[in-house]
Formats: sequence, C-alpha cells, structure tokens
Amino acid sequence: MIFMSRKNKFAKLILGILTVTILFTLSSVSVEAAKFNADAFSRSKNPRASQLVFFNGADGGNHFNAFNYGRDKMHSTSSNININRTTDRHSANIIASSSNAQDTWFGLIRYVGNSDSNIMLHRTNTTNAGFTTANYRKTAMHEFGHALGLDHQDSPTVSVMRSGKLTYSDYSTLDKSNLTWRYGR
Ligand SMILES: [Zn+2]
Repeated sequence: MIFMSRKNKFAKLILGILTVTILFTLSSVSVEAAKFNADAFSRSKNPRASQLVFFNGADGGNHFNAFNYGRDKMHSTSSNININRTTDRHSANIIASSSNAQDTWFGLIRYVGNSDSNIMLHRTNTTNAGFTTANYRKTAMHEFGHALGLDHQDSPTVSVMRSGKLTYSDYSTLDKSNLTWRYGR
C-alpha cells in the first residue's frame, strides 16, 4: 500500500508538471500582442479621409449590402472620416466590386496611390465557405479598414482586422481606438 501511494504521488506530480508545461506552451503559442496606434497601421494617414467618395459596384444582394454596411460603420468611427456615396464610378476614391479571380482570398484591396483603392469580395470562395451575412459584413469592414490604412491584427485579437471567415457586426473597441488615434474623434 505504501508503494502504491508513492506511485500515485509520483503520477500526480508528473501529471501536474505535464499540465503546467502544456498550458505554458499553449499560452506562448496563441497569445499574440494586439497592435495599438501607429503599430496598427501599415500605411500613413489617408490624405482624403475627410472627403472620400464611394462607388458600390458589387453584385446585388450579399456583396452590395455588405459594402454599404461597411461604409456606414467606417463613416461613423470618426467625424474626420467621411465616406460619401456616388453613382459615378469615375469620381470615386473607393470602388467596391465582386470578383471571380483565380485565387484563395475572400476579400481583397488594391491600393491606387495614397488615397484611392479598389475593394473586392470573392464570389465563389465566399459562397463555397458558406458565408453568412455577418461574415460578408466583417470582410467588407475589413477592406474599408485597409482603405483607411489599418494593418492586420493577429489571432486572437478582437479586431475586424484579423484575417479569415469571422463574425463581426461592427469595428471592435481596439479598431475604433486605433482609427480615432490616427484621424481624431
Ligand atoms: Zn486584409
């Protein structure tokens, strides 16, 4: 019996060490630092942030609605970010469209100069991944985030600027704080 209890003690000790080791490994692998203020941006201030013009040329339905939703959310993050709508593609700084490019992305931005950009949602990739309304909205908001200069945030940071099929209905507290740091309230 003494032998058994010693054996149990030993087993418990080993289990405890293993648990601590696994927890330590998990936490050091998954905890990436959130990016704040200047670190949250990959580009300088969008010089036309206060007078952006948006043309929504995406497919009707999910894509069109998501880009309008993203525009509304970004527009309301700061009084110095103004995104006005236009029906004239040629006068726009931000042009939204739908794409079937031979690539693996869900959403994409192509910068044109310092202030202009083309933002896209992928038709088949998002459909095949079973995108919900919230997934489309997150992706549209994410691309508007890039349009205003925001960089990616690493998992598991609570941010629209994380990559992937995620569910967000608005920019996170961190995203809003970073945007107002750069553009003011
Ligand atoms: Zn991105």
